[in-house]
Amino acid sequence: MDDSYLKEWDAEVKSVSKDKFIVLDKTAFFPRGGGVEWDTGIITTDNGKEFNVVYTGKLSGEISHEVEKEGLRVGDKVHCKLNWEKRYLLMRYHTATHVLSGVFFNEYDLKITGNQLTTEKGRVDLNMEEMDVDLIKEAIEKSNEVIKKEHPVEIYYKSRVEAEKDPDLFKLAKGFSHDIDTIRIVDIKGFDRQADGGCHVKNLNEIGKIKFKDTVNKGKNFKRVYFTIE
Ligand SMILES: [Zn+2]
Repeated sequence: MDDSYLKEWDAEVKSVSKDKFIVLDKTAFFPRGGGVEWDTGIITTDNGKEFNVVYTGKLSGEISHEVEKEGLRVGDKVHCKLNWEKRYLLMRYHTATHVLSGVFFNEYDLKITGNQLTTEKGRVDLNMEEMDVDLIKEAIEKSNEVIKKEHPVEIYYKSRVEAEKDPDLFKLAKGFSHDIDTIRIVDIKGFDRQADGGCHVKNLNEIGKIKFKDTVNKGKNFKRVYFTIE
């Protein structure tokens, strides 16, 4: 949550269920959520046994790591390592999505109502009434211009009360769960701020270029846009 660039760390196994779902005392594996794909990686025991983490999800409020084989025990001291290539690409996609969201909202008064980010492509859903592919392509070009400005990206926290006074922070149409007291802010300095729980790059210059791929008309106020980054 505080350091998206942490790639390796030591931890202890807190619980094991059905031989393959592992909870650690601390983790940087990102669990599937907010439309972003999960982290994979490797957990290594202090006697050198390796366990591939194939899926990370949130189960009853805890981050659960699914490993490929059995053998991990409660109390095991382990070393964790992310599949950094995958994670870093997802970070680039996620920050790119915030740039798109900022442009669609600021320039066209359009909201992103959902997203799905994988290492293959990004997808955002817009509350656009009639399909306008030219507008979408133009917004992507404008987003690439924003990326070229190399804004830094900062992460900090605000109390819920403070954050609610700031309508900018609740740009995503579906809003935020009401049982959260402290709101984590992802701030693209001088451009866009959002309440968000994901992993992001430190500077827009790490994103690269957003490329338009395709659109799907899902109905009134529901237009789907696919893009890649390169
Ligand atoms: Zn986000």
